[in-house]
Amino acid sequence: MSDLISIREAASLLDTDVMLIAHIVDVGDVLPTPPVSKDFQEIVFTSGDIERFQTEVARRRFDDFKVQYADVYVQDEGPGARGLEFGPGWLGILKEFCDSLREFQNAGYRARLRWGKEKFGAMRLFYDCSDEIATYIAERKGIAYGKSLRSCQECGEPARLQFGYSICLTLCDRHKHLVGEPDPERDGIILDVDAWSRQQREGA
Ligand SMILES: [Zn+2]
Repeated sequence: MSDLISIREAASLLDTDVMLIAHIVDVGDVLPTPPVSKDFQEIVFTSGDIERFQTEVARRRFDDFKVQYADVYVQDEGPGARGLEFGPGWLGILKEFCDSLREFQNAGYRARLRWGKEKFGAMRLFYDCSDEIATYIAERKGIAYGKSLRSCQECGEPARLQFGYSICLTLCDRHKHLVGEPDPERDGIILDVDAWSRQQREGA
């Protein structure tokens, strides 16, 4: 058993952190060959597993996207700079948004994505654009937001906001275990936290 690789060694080989590897295992679509320990620190890999995890880590870093969309995705740099902080299931939504930025850019306007994140299960995109097209880009951003609340952040399949007790994420039935036990007070009741918060304020 001496040729097994610990999760710490795997993270180092894959040039990433232990938490991302543990998350990939938790998602459940790419698993190590040896039986998975319940304690993530005890998870082990074979050398053959590393290559499969390499592909998965690259997918989650949006490596191909960054090459294909280098003209419209210009990541912020410097201290505190953010990247693309959401799951690979939203790649299609991301590309669609960037395709529209590209159209505007080709028409001579400034339009570029700087970074994006997931918050309350929805995709939030941050960009720079010329004032003349701000309304159009804001509309595209709204479309991406709406689609993200209907697409699993892990796999892109039809999904809804899943409410656990400490976290909410937009996930399909196959991946909803990632939020833990559903909170019956909110799960299936709040499907868009921003819209729900607005309603609460207006109702008050
Ligand atoms: Zn899914």
